[in-house]
Amino acid sequence: MTIEVLNRIGGQPTRSSAPTFERRNPARNDEVVSVAPDSSVADVTAAVDAAVEAQAKWRATTPTQRADILTKASRILASRTDEIAAEMVREEGKPLADAKNEASRTPKNLELYAGEAYRLSGATFPSDDTPLVYSVLDPVGVVGVITPWNFPLNMASRKIGPALAAGNTVVFKPSPMTPLMGERLASAFIEAGLPDGVLNVVHGFAAGAHVVNDTRVNAVTFTGSNATGHKIHQAMGLGRRVQLELGGKNPVIVLADADLDAAAQIVARSSFSLTGQACTGAGRILVDASIHDALLERVVALAKAYVVGPGDVAGVTMGPLVDEAAVQAMERAVAEAVGLGAKVACGGARLAEGELANGWFYPATILVDVDPSSPLSCNEVFGPVVGFEKINGVDEAIASANAVEYGLSAAVCTKDLATAQRCAAELQAGMVRINRPTVGAAFNAPFGGIKQSGTATHKEQLGPTVMDFYTVMRTVWLGS
Ligand code: NAD
Repeated sequence: MTIEVLNRIGGQPTRSSAPTFERRNPARNDEVVSVAPDSSVADVTAAVDAAVEAQAKWRATTPTQRADILTKASRILASRTDEIAAEMVREEGKPLADAKNEASRTPKNLELYAGEAYRLSGATFPSDDTPLVYSVLDPVGVVGVITPWNFPLNMASRKIGPALAAGNTVVFKPSPMTPLMGERLASAFIEAGLPDGVLNVVHGFAAGAHVVNDTRVNAVTFTGSNATGHKIHQAMGLGRRVQLELGGKNPVIVLADADLDAAAQIVARSSFSLTGQACTGAGRILVDASIHDALLERVVALAKAYVVGPGDVAGVTMGPLVDEAAVQAMERAVAEAVGLGAKVACGGARLAEGELANGWFYPATILVDVDPSSPLSCNEVFGPVVGFEKINGVDEAIASANAVEYGLSAAVCTKDLATAQRCAAELQAGMVRINRPTVGAAFNAPFGGIKQSGTATHKEQLGPTVMDFYTVMRTVWLGS
């Protein structure tokens, strides 16, 4: 069944005169899951008009009013976990267990952000000549929220939640791969009683750029690719805020003293969970030469054990890639690496047998003898293709891990505490995991990258600075 998704402007489902686009099930391409408008400049302008108009009243609401709506939206979403997870499998493609995990984590994010409405605080300052000097936090104004498809609920909730809690109004642009998920999230807020115009949703391919180009949008929080991030950064200019959470080329370092069975599990999970379509997914395995073959044998066995297929089929542990272009990107990356001397240890060709012929499937793929300066080692691939590189000792491992432009997530497998602490201190990554996979997030801990993996303006998720991006601090001198 195809679901028609409309924009949401001023609280109302709103038709556009622009053409629509289809989103097909990535596992069964003959099924059109959702149809949404490819919004025009006029649609986006109307959404920003509504957000601007709603701003004054929303910023004047009390913390309790804002927290109550976020809490209610959280409960609405939680009551629909199974239904939304099933739709997510059809629209985005991840296996049902992963979709349920995301659909149940998103309401928890909103509960946390509801509390943030109460925790916004300023400070007082000793002064020589004025009785009271203090700071206050105001909302920024209108926030543009632009999100990718790989965590269509969770990622957006981590932006819309704190933006609303601080008293901002929002124009939300979900990925064109997952318009239905964007609608499901937005409708929970609107059903929870959010006043008209506080959250507006526009769909489409060029709509993100239209949001960014409207200078009444005071801040843009974006998660997505580096190519798009660079464009947004340039377009925002002086006086408007931008938060970018971008891609990664995340290493797993496996040192000679590591527990090999545990390390193999960590490497496989980092590289292949969510079909490698996680920003924190591993792309490089830096393994000590002395244990290279023993680790490779174990990881190849785990890679071959993935059951690839549609995410709603029982027993499937690896779903499809997001689209045909993603499959072709895997094919190009593997061919290029092989052309530069790498060898395929497993996988390496698209899967199109039987029912897989109707979807965008690619298997868990390991390349060995990868040149550390080759594109496979330096550029994000965003799929289940990983390269093994030999290193000798921790010095070389750290130097090699830090040699790429990205700095999102890094994992280290070692039994030695001093080595682990040194890696934690010296690895240039926003998140370092010791004997843990590169993927995953603590939903109450700061999340984000450094170097080319983001602006590092403020960390997403929770943590002491999560609300900084969504608030403006002003200082008051109160004389008598
Ligand atoms: P993308 O950059 O293609 O698209 C992201 C969003 O930006 C979409 O909504 C898209 O429509 C919109 N967009 C496209 N062009 C735009 C423009 N010129 N101006 C404004 N908006 C525009 O990324 P994607 O393919 O959806 O997502 C995959 C990428 O996201 C990967 O690089 C991945 O690493 C990254 N990602 C990062 C994180 C993180 O937290 N660092 C998390 C998830 C995904």
